[in-house]
Amino acid sequence: MKEYCGIFGIYNNPNAAYYTYLGLYALQHRGQESAGIATTDGKKMRYYKDFGLVSSVFKGEILKNLKGYVAVGHNRYSTSGASDSIDNVQPIVVSYKHGQMAIAHNGNLVNALNLREKLEEEGSIFRGTSDSEVIVHLIVKSKKKKFLEKLMDALAKLEGAYSLLVMTNKKLIAIRDPWGFRPLSMGELDGSPVFASETCAFDLIGAKYIRDIEPGEVLLIENGEIKSYQIPKKSSKKSQCIFEFVYFARPDSKIFKRSVYEVRKEFGKRLARENPVEADVVIPVPDSGVVPALGYSQESKIPFEMGLIRNHYVGRTFIKPQQQMRDIGVKVKLNPIPEVIRGKRVVVIDDSIVRGTTSKKIVRMIREAGAKEVHMRISSPPTKWPCYFGIDTPTKEQLIASSSSLDEICKHIEADSLGYLSLEGMLEAAGGSKEEFCTACFDGDYPVEIPEGIIKQAKKE
Ligand code: SF4
Repeated sequence: MKEYCGIFGIYNNPNAAYYTYLGLYALQHRGQESAGIATTDGKKMRYYKDFGLVSSVFKGEILKNLKGYVAVGHNRYSTSGASDSIDNVQPIVVSYKHGQMAIAHNGNLVNALNLREKLEEEGSIFRGTSDSEVIVHLIVKSKKKKFLEKLMDALAKLEGAYSLLVMTNKKLIAIRDPWGFRPLSMGELDGSPVFASETCAFDLIGAKYIRDIEPGEVLLIENGEIKSYQIPKKSSKKSQCIFEFVYFARPDSKIFKRSVYEVRKEFGKRLARENPVEADVVIPVPDSGVVPALGYSQESKIPFEMGLIRNHYVGRTFIKPQQQMRDIGVKVKLNPIPEVIRGKRVVVIDDSIVRGTTSKKIVRMIREAGAKEVHMRISSPPTKWPCYFGIDTPTKEQLIASSSSLDEICKHIEADSLGYLSLEGMLEAAGGSKEEFCTACFDGDYPVEIPEGIIKQAKKE
């Protein structure tokens, strides 16, 4: 199952549940399908989780009943759709021989299937289908004595992406996998350590950003003391997901020690230098195209306008019109402003082209609004390979850039010209190299070997 998520945690605060609620609210863009919070008062855990947005899950008295000084929260989007069950909603909370444990996980393990098969052969019974449950079973089944040893034993078996918050009745532990795929930061609020997938969550609650959890770091807080441990690394190379900068993270966040806004704008500037065009106006495909379009406009000196307006309230529950009705398609989400577009040579900036169908509809929409020319510019390189580390992409066969040339894609989307940001340009704009970032969806260079079973499973989903 592919999942992408936001996680939040807080230690030693009388309003732990409420701050976690706010943190999840700020991280809502990382997952809109379900939300959950678990708290502990040092003796007993309480939790509540359900399908829906953070604001609709935590209504009325629910937050008040989540008593305790330590909390972890999670919101999630998964691609398994209707077949999904509440057992997959996080945090996963379990009681076992040595106590209770809650776990909130962002990322995808590539060896979850193999580990799960082995655990099931050994008698483990799983309630849901999420990768995260595998981690819980590995911790519980470890033969080591102390909790930290059990945890380290389990982590050493994991391959792939995991930013984790693990809570027991006495401890809060923040973990980032040795590759560092997904972000996880530590902040401080009135003396309470806080953790979040993105720093925009700290801004909302008034917490101060302290630092990132480093790739491979296990940061344990117990009795108010903070200790740092390291998961053994196979390589010194980091594989932080560069696509977080392209699309996923909020521009007002700082991830991987960089401002998402600044990196995204630099993508636009580089794109303008690499793919110039004579035009009258630069317009973004909102939201993720806005900041690179600003960069493109500033670099090219072509005026920036909001030529497309997005409806922010279209969710997964939108009922698709019946076949005999007009194809509403992309119009539900985007509407052009003809006054900005009519008679103009338009540069339209988007973050990526996946299948090509949406881009084609956008180009048509801009033309129908009266554009003289439509030049598509993409603030990342061609997406040719699927992601197995927690970002929802279709199979290789469905990615238009995996089988079509630049000219063919341009023709398919009916644009007058098409240009992508280069891989080198993207890495330079992010201020790093392949030693620091995963770029597998662009160049197929997967930092972790992808087992055949995972590729087959992804094709079925
Ligand atoms: S494959 Fe792409 S989306 Fe997935 S982790 Fe790597 S860079 Fe990010």
